[in-house]
Amino acid sequence: MLQMEEKHASPANVQEIDLYSSAVRQFDIAADILRLEDGMRKILSHCQRELTVNFPVEMDDGSVQVLTGHRVQHNTGPGPSKGGIRYHPMVTLSEVKALAMWMTWKCAVMGLPYGGAKGGVQVNPKLLSQNELQNLTRRYTTEIQILLGANQDIPAPDVNTNPQIMAWIMDTYSMNVGYSVPSVVTGKPLSLGGSPGRNEATGRGCVYVAVEAAKKAGFSFDGARVVVQGFGNVGSSAALIAAELGAKIVGVSDLQGGIYNPHGLDVAAVAAHHAATRSVVGFDGAEPISNEDLLELDCEILIPCAIENQITEENAPRIRARMIVEGANGPTTPDADVILGDRGIVVVPDILANAGGVTVSYFEWVQGMQWFPWTLEEVNSRLQKIMTSSFARVYDESVGRGVDLRTGAMCVAVDRVAEFTRLRGIYP
Ligand code: NAD
Repeated sequence: MLQMEEKHASPANVQEIDLYSSAVRQFDIAADILRLEDGMRKILSHCQRELTVNFPVEMDDGSVQVLTGHRVQHNTGPGPSKGGIRYHPMVTLSEVKALAMWMTWKCAVMGLPYGGAKGGVQVNPKLLSQNELQNLTRRYTTEIQILLGANQDIPAPDVNTNPQIMAWIMDTYSMNVGYSVPSVVTGKPLSLGGSPGRNEATGRGCVYVAVEAAKKAGFSFDGARVVVQGFGNVGSSAALIAAELGAKIVGVSDLQGGIYNPHGLDVAAVAAHHAATRSVVGFDGAEPISNEDLLELDCEILIPCAIENQITEENAPRIRARMIVEGANGPTTPDADVILGDRGIVVVPDILANAGGVTVSYFEWVQGMQWFPWTLEEVNSRLQKIMTSSFARVYDESVGRGVDLRTGAMCVAVDRVAEFTRLRGIYP
């Protein structure tokens, strides 16, 4: 028995060391530049709270499964902690810790009054019925409820979770405390206190920072050739909004493949084709192109919005975009970053470029706490203001320190969180 447990434990432990330690390595780079004091380094390189829960779920056939989930709060210095919940078979505590730390930096870069958190359940939700998914969500929520609260820790959707799951989390929490608390989660359905504009916020935010970055690089966004990898929530919104602002979308792709038209795609028609067929592939009026070739197209702006590790040391020497705006989390590897930097290709980093989602989650939370909904126009104009000013802050930091935008963004973030921590002091 002991042998079996050890065998089962070792791969997870190996992954644990790898994932979280790479997040800490990124933090160390900024900490070195900022000459952060030793005590502060120790505090910020640890997660404040880590909860692991093993809980039973009754399946439709009457059998019982015990699932493992986590909720981690990396930091609660600036305010409540914020971060999504993912359901995925490969979820590990290390991954959740790393994602919680990145949420701290993302919120800090945007100046949001939040620390970072993340949650996950090790499960393949595609194998579950709606009823089983609901059972799992309600029990997991109850298990981690000691950490949650509208003023404490506020989940949101992430990989394989959605507004319906947020509604179940909100209802479970509310039933347990005895009154309705819509602000305990964001990314809720509109009719339950969700915010207008939340669905397309990440793609919209990407486009707003791309417009600012283009100005600094000396070209106009209007008429710029844009390529978007991934046509899901982030990619399709980014493509549609970029086209509305005058960019020429010359290529888009999804898991099935890509399409290319040097004269510009009719993005609304591509979206309609995607809605009908679940893919951009087969769209009339464009040539097919592989995902690999799509990334290497001649263009002004490449917006990767699919998954991590798409631009690597292998293809970075062949990238022809003038600028990369990271809609996805972690699409560029550290080795590729160095190559792109040497080639003068600007990379607008994920913790800034895709922060529009958490920013409109913050707006949803504010509306909920005040029981006072905003209009879509208010949401979008405040999003534009905050994306633009955060880009300017990161740009100035990078120029001032003579570093790239990723390092500049990390310096802004770590410096802000360190300041909160210093001012609050160590209790007792
Ligand atoms: P999604 O599942 O809605 O869309 C993902 C898209 O990428 C799909 O079109 C899929 O077919 C495509 N894709 C997947 N693997 C691919 C591959 N190997 N090559 C080409 N295309 C591929 O997901 P999403 O919510 O749009 O998220 C995309 C990325 O943005 C993720 O990295 C996510 O973490 C990040 N992100 C999302 C949000 C948000 O608000 N949704 C916020 C911040 C960051």
